[in-house]
Amino acid sequence: MGGFGSGRNRQRRDTVDDSLTLSMKDLRRLGFLHGRRSGVVCWNWGDALLARIGVESVMDRRRAYIRLSYAAADRGGRKRSFDYLVQLDGDSCRFGGQQWYFRCPACDRRVRLLHLPEGGDVFACRHCYDLTYESAQTHDARYPSLRRGVSALAHWMTNSRADARAGAPRP
Ligand SMILES: [Zn+2]
Repeated sequence: MGGFGSGRNRQRRDTVDDSLTLSMKDLRRLGFLHGRRSGVVCWNWGDALLARIGVESVMDRRRAYIRLSYAAADRGGRKRSFDYLVQLDGDSCRFGGQQWYFRCPACDRRVRLLHLPEGGDVFACRHCYDLTYESAQTHDARYPSLRRGVSALAHWMTNSRADARAGAPRP
């Protein structure tokens, strides 16, 4: 995930704001979580692409999961490929609709957010990565723009390859 957070002070604990965050709310907004959908989710910082991952969601009567595929660099800068499933867990709302949660791939907690800090491998909950919130740490003036960019970021985009394959009607 080129350049993301590079040069950061390693003594400092990772924070939620410095990580890539995948939220259930955004997945829903992007049109995932209905039937079978696949696309690419991107994190941008201004015009710069911070990271992109392949996402496929499979939701039917028997199964509810997302599949994530991407390459991420470890702390030594070595690129590794990842491709795995994250199970989803739903609560039915009394008046229709469903509240969905991720099952953290590392600890199985039900969470609404998954994070991938720099040097991390799989998206996991903040407990697993021991992430803090920014306000809990002293302000570090060397990285104001990174922080602002990442927290403001979340400019997402999708493409609907699955729909195209399924022969979805065109306008
Ligand atoms: Zn966890």
